[in-house]
Amino acid sequence: MPDFSIGVDLGGTNLRIAAITTEGKLLEKVTLGTKLLSGPDHVIAEMCDAILRLSEQYRSSGALLGMGLGIPGIIDLESGTVRASANLPGWSNYPVREKAEQRLATRVLLENDAKVHALGEKWLGAARDVDNMAMITLGTGIGGAIVLGGEIFHGMNGMAGEFGHVTLEPDGVPCGCGNRGCAERYASATAIERMAREEIASGQAPALAKMAGSGEEFSAKSIYQLAVKGDEAAQRIFQKFGRALGILMADIVNVLNLEMYVIGGGVVSAWDAFAPSMFRELHERSTIYAATAPCDSATKQGAAAKVVVSTRQKTIITPAILGSDAGLFGGARLPAMGR
Ligand SMILES: [Zn+2]
Repeated sequence: MPDFSIGVDLGGTNLRIAAITTEGKLLEKVTLGTKLLSGPDHVIAEMCDAILRLSEQYRSSGALLGMGLGIPGIIDLESGTVRASANLPGWSNYPVREKAEQRLATRVLLENDAKVHALGEKWLGAARDVDNMAMITLGTGIGGAIVLGGEIFHGMNGMAGEFGHVTLEPDGVPCGCGNRGCAERYASATAIERMAREEIASGQAPALAKMAGSGEEFSAKSIYQLAVKGDEAAQRIFQKFGRALGILMADIVNVLNLEMYVIGGGVVSAWDAFAPSMFRELHERSTIYAATAPCDSATKQGAAAKVVVSTRQKTIITPAILGSDAGLFGGARLPAMGR
């Protein structure tokens, strides 16, 4: 039995914990509700109780190497604290690493959740065969991560890869970050709901209006289900979404020229509804993408298609395959990577 480590995905709703071997085998997975109102001391204590139980259970078979914790927000990597997190109010400057290490007597590593997801997809998911990749996570907002030579590129202080706050519209929708027109205002679950409300206000979306007025679920998921059934207004929303994401992806591809870009997060299950318009934008707006796109990606003749360069190596843009487990696998990978 190989050694194992613990991966933790701390979200605003759920706290998910898994014991995973160094070979990538999931031993056990535990999901707890995140009791945010009880404060960070309580949440960390519950987390540590569950981890101690897991490590006790599997100790006879292998050594516990440590634990890696993915947190939504800006992490101070040196001090092991949460600098700022919109999803975890009251956690700013909370010494997560110190508190957890006291209880667990093992190494605890903190990392931004989108970066942990990228590590998971790099290790065992869509990007397992490439060394250089970026991940774009579409959820309530947009998370981002860049992996170079198999390791997370942090930038100066851990903030590199904030794709969600790239400006798409100079005078666009205000963003929580203080800017206007950020990508995550146009290509996230929140953006889908906003665009649906705009469609309803325009009077051109009877099925959406009916859904919103019925008291039933009104979410990116239910709007996607309408699109699948052929509702034109719902389909329009995903085309706009794909266009915005395509513009963002074209910028990222132009800047990074990596082998692979993995798109993850809950919204990626609507891939078939937004991918055609995303690939159209990519072809039209990125000369690099047009020159390196795989043959099966939608071929549209845009300005970029004039570029005559053609390379053997292709730019792959693909959906993530591990789903929310990417956060657990990536978290468990952190101690093994030694950071
Ligand atoms: Zn922003």
